[in-house]
Amino acid sequence: MQTADVVIIGGGIVGSSIAYHLTEAGCKNILVIERETAQGKGSTGKSMGGVRAQFSTPISIQMSLYSIPFYASFDERLGYPAGYRPQGYLFCATSEKHLAYLRANYQKQVALGLKNVRLITTEEIRGRFPQLRSDDIVGGSFCSTDGFVDPYSAMIGFMTWAADHGATLWKHTEVSGIQRDGKRVTAVETTRGTVATRKVVNAAGPWAAAIAEMAGVDLPVKPLRRMLVPTEPFDQFPHDVPMIIDMSNGFHFRPEALGFLLAWNDPEETPGYKTDFEPSFIEKILTRAADRVPIFENLAVNPKRAWAGLYEMTPDHHPILGEVSELPGFYLANGFSGHGVMHAPATGKILSDLILTGKTNLVDVTLLGPDRFAAGRLIEETAVL
Ligand SMILES: Cc1cc2nc3c(=O)[nH]c(=O)nc-3n(C[C@H](O)[C@H](O)[C@H](O)COP(=O)(O)OP(=O)(O)OC[C@H]3O[C@@H](n4cnc5c(N)ncnc54)[C@H](O)[C@@H]3O)c2cc1C
Repeated sequence: MQTADVVIIGGGIVGSSIAYHLTEAGCKNILVIERETAQGKGSTGKSMGGVRAQFSTPISIQMSLYSIPFYASFDERLGYPAGYRPQGYLFCATSEKHLAYLRANYQKQVALGLKNVRLITTEEIRGRFPQLRSDDIVGGSFCSTDGFVDPYSAMIGFMTWAADHGATLWKHTEVSGIQRDGKRVTAVETTRGTVATRKVVNAAGPWAAAIAEMAGVDLPVKPLRRMLVPTEPFDQFPHDVPMIIDMSNGFHFRPEALGFLLAWNDPEETPGYKTDFEPSFIEKILTRAADRVPIFENLAVNPKRAWAGLYEMTPDHHPILGEVSELPGFYLANGFSGHGVMHAPATGKILSDLILTGKTNLVDVTLLGPDRFAAGRLIEETAVL
């Protein structure tokens, strides 16, 4: 029978980062199992690639404080590109309540060591981005080290480095069962046969609850459709701009190739494995785009280039990380609620620490355990886009 020290289920950016961090720490006999014929067909390949440290809870901020510098030095460390572009995130507040919220977040971010974040006045926003309608903007916050990465490249970089240093990736192989001996995990069943192992990581993205169920674990991670609309080339708005967020309705956009990538969280969306792009979304998002950026009235969009993917949502918008106490050897790296690309480096480090040493200094991981839901210890993240 095939054996591995660690089996990672899912070859998206999270599984790949865990494989990288374990290998980098000296653990070589790692097997990553991916059911698709190529990596990136899950959420990772659908992502907007935004990375930011402007969050509202210490845990989310700390995960970004590890991850963003990691992305900044990714090419140098791994020898593969991650496409990090530090163009910033600009939150535009349209009420005093938003402004107080940004101010409170700013204080937490600075206290935790974030250096490049600052509050910004309406005049400065107006001066830098005269194309924005600013009559209702009352201020904002901006962090220059926030920005974008290329999620596909980063995922391939992590996995290729891990494979170069001893890890194995099985593609086109589906995990169909997890064996336990009553006390702990003993093996993983796949379409290529059974693999004996004492450590299994669930990194199955939006499908994580089904994997957990195979191990008899109840995991509150639900898939939620998220749609993105790329525009045709557009040169009436500069391309060196940050991710710009209109806090009045959550509409946000960033430059992408010669055009822009538009995003908005439709509150009418309901959980489920829906990955078809809904054409009526285009009008909804273009209305919001033109409302904040009047020249966006001239944007051209080809509906065939728009796409949909799945967020992996948890009840408190924080990931579920760590070993399941009732099933030793079964680890979770799930439920990133829209932040799995930006937090993949920190997740890889945390999981590698826990698997190899049983503890981590990166965050207080006890706060992220799966038992927090039953115990009512939720840690709500409100800065979710
Ligand atoms: C439209 C959109 C925009 C987003 N924008 C951002 C953003 O700007 N910034 C950000 O940080 N995050 C963003 N996200 C979220 C981010 O993409 C995800 O959190 C992240 O990609 C999760 O990575 P993952 O590796 O856990 O999951 P995935 O990439 O989904 O990988 C899981 C893998 O597990 C495999 N798998 C599942 N079941 C099995 C099985 N039984 N056997 C074997 N393999 C299996 C799947 O095939 C898949 O490849 C966005 C998501 C979407 C959909």
